[in-house]
Amino acid sequence: RRAEFEKLKDVDAVTRDGHRVALLMNAGLEFDLEIMHETGAEGIGLFRTEFQFMVSEDLPRLKRQTELYERVMDAAGDKPVIFRTLDLGGDKILPYMETEREENPALGWRAIRMGLDRPALLRMQVRALLTAAKGRELRIMFPMVASVDEFRQARELVDIECQWARRRGRPLPQVLRVGVMIECPSLLFHLDALLPMVDFASVGTNDLTQYLFAADRTNPRMSDRYDVLSPPMLRALSTIQKAAEDSGTPVSVCGEIAGKPLEAFVLIALGFNRLSMPPAGIGQVKRMILSLDREQASKAIRKLMGSSYGSLRSEVLALARKLNV
Ligand code: PEP
Ligand code: MG
Repeated sequence: RRAEFEKLKDVDAVTRDGHRVALLMNAGLEFDLEIMHETGAEGIGLFRTEFQFMVSEDLPRLKRQTELYERVMDAAGDKPVIFRTLDLGGDKILPYMETEREENPALGWRAIRMGLDRPALLRMQVRALLTAAKGRELRIMFPMVASVDEFRQARELVDIECQWARRRGRPLPQVLRVGVMIECPSLLFHLDALLPMVDFASVGTNDLTQYLFAADRTNPRMSDRYDVLSPPMLRALSTIQKAAEDSGTPVSVCGEIAGKPLEAFVLIALGFNRLSMPPAGIGQVKRMILSLDREQASKAIRKLMGSSYGSLRSEVLALARKLNV
């Protein structure tokens, strides 16, 4: 398998009926960038910036953050990197940062909520990103956005940092793109307002599934109820994909499912054409794509979505076999 995937490294992921799919990689540490070139990923679709904070003994300040982001962009070369701002809180607690114990951390004070309520840390991070990306293209993405207004406020904070840098004559990125993670179900019902405001979106299916079904993503007892291959989840994904396509907003999927061949098969059938995944998924997903007829898969998946009540896993598996993917 490894040798086979190695051969596929420089092959484009194109379906049999000619649809190209961009395969990107999730990362969080500098070390991951070495793997990027081995996998043939087209870029980093999700750089989890909180990893630097989690492996550090104290709070990484402006200089250390800037240096990391610079090295990451240097290593990526001309491939794009999407930097997600800090997704702390919930299960990601820093020993050196004081936080109150919460009854429901997954529903608590985390990610962009912290960033907006106590903007000093988020502003420092945005400043580090702007500095590191001087003269290049910078992509910033906000996690756990639950309302359009939160995105607006977060974007405003980036604008303020840009003005701050401009006033001081500091060099800025040549291009700046600001995106949103779609992982809170509330956004599904406000896509018409959200999408025109964002430069791109990425679906965080790990959390979206968790919040859609109110089923803890880390609890093995919930694993049957945390059901990505079920009509409600597929309809949610399809709604996002259609709205993004209609508004001309680039959209990707960056949850773990993007790296699983069966789930990726369904994502592509639903129309997604950018997937960001753990590096180990790229070879197997590419192999699946090369054997896939998207139009055929798309018709069959839409039919399944409309006619079943519970999990579609066994039907999807049977379908994938029937279509020889
Ligand atoms: C997600 O929620 O799907 C996601 C990609 O982010 P994380 O796994 O870091 O919460
Ligand atoms: Mg998430």
